[in-house]
Amino acid sequence: MTAATLTIDLDAIAANWRALDALTSCETAAVVKADGYGCGAGKVARRLAREGARRFFVAVAEEGAALREALGPGPEINVFSGHMPGDTDMIHDLSLTPMINSLDQMLRHLEALPGHPFGIQLDSGMNRLGMEPAEWIALRDIATQQNMTLVMSHLACADEPDHPMNAQQLRIFKEMTDGLDVPRSLAATGGILLGPDYHFDITRPGVGLYGGAPFTDAQPAAHVSVPVIQVRDVEAGETVGYGNTWTAPSPARIATIAAGYADGIIRAMGPKTSVWVGDTPCPIVGRISMDLIGVDVSDLDSDPRAVELLGHHNSVDTLADAAGTIGYEILTSLGSRYRRRYHST
Ligand SMILES: *Cc1c(COP(=O)(O)O)cnc(C)c1O
Repeated sequence: MTAATLTIDLDAIAANWRALDALTSCETAAVVKADGYGCGAGKVARRLAREGARRFFVAVAEEGAALREALGPGPEINVFSGHMPGDTDMIHDLSLTPMINSLDQMLRHLEALPGHPFGIQLDSGMNRLGMEPAEWIALRDIATQQNMTLVMSHLACADEPDHPMNAQQLRIFKEMTDGLDVPRSLAATGGILLGPDYHFDITRPGVGLYGGAPFTDAQPAAHVSVPVIQVRDVEAGETVGYGNTWTAPSPARIATIAAGYADGIIRAMGPKTSVWVGDTPCPIVGRISMDLIGVDVSDLDSDPRAVELLGHHNSVDTLADAAGTIGYEILTSLGSRYRRRYHST
């Protein structure tokens, strides 16, 4: 067995969902776009449905269709990209709920699937998806007479609690939705942590479920263990890897492990990252190759058979910081070469 192992801890994801749910007194949905942030949308959603989640969010209708196959009838599946050309059959046949983003989408939806439930996504300032205030004013009366199940918007700076954008978007969202007789949703993971003003009727956590910032109390959900292929001694002055970027300052023992940037181990993290054997850090040395990485195992008493790259010592945010990115990108980059295991009691 040479492929690295990616273990997804469904118990941890369930515990993170419960912990986020406990921070509010409203309904907690779950965002499982991008194959559940790389963790497996179907398995994650089935586990969370068992835990009590009744509503899931995905990015596009195709993801919603696959999720419906995994979940079966019952839970509500909301699609952020709304009702796009070509989506009608999927939305209808698999009972998906599009989050309508524009006048065009509204007309398409009401014409193709009259009576079929939909939500409305409003732009409260992020300028990414959703109706602008003027567009919404023109449509509001029509929408409220139809089968509208949710109005939502998304915060641009919720991971920065002191950012003035949060209060500004909250005010605009309220102006656009006060007086409506339909559930409202504004908060993702960051918004939940901003406090009750931001919770409304339904929250939509994603990254916090999978162990990422800004939910710092999260349990790690993804664990990566990488087998050691070969171990060798190098003399002081010898180099390791492409470009000779690392030179042994003194005699060292170097293990070559079976993962690389093709597995989402971003090259840029190399100089700042250690892998772990038990509680001993083993620094990455030299450049990260496509399928191989050199690590300095000189501090160990014996040669390891495998090392931990992601898990209790390295969180997704440890690796993200080392690579100059965010935990979301680490999770969704993990790739398809891993041997996947699911841990669940
Ligand atoms: C991705 C996303 C979420 C989840 O955000 P997290 O920061 O991962 O909790 C919620 N709502 C929308 C509109 C999103 O795009």
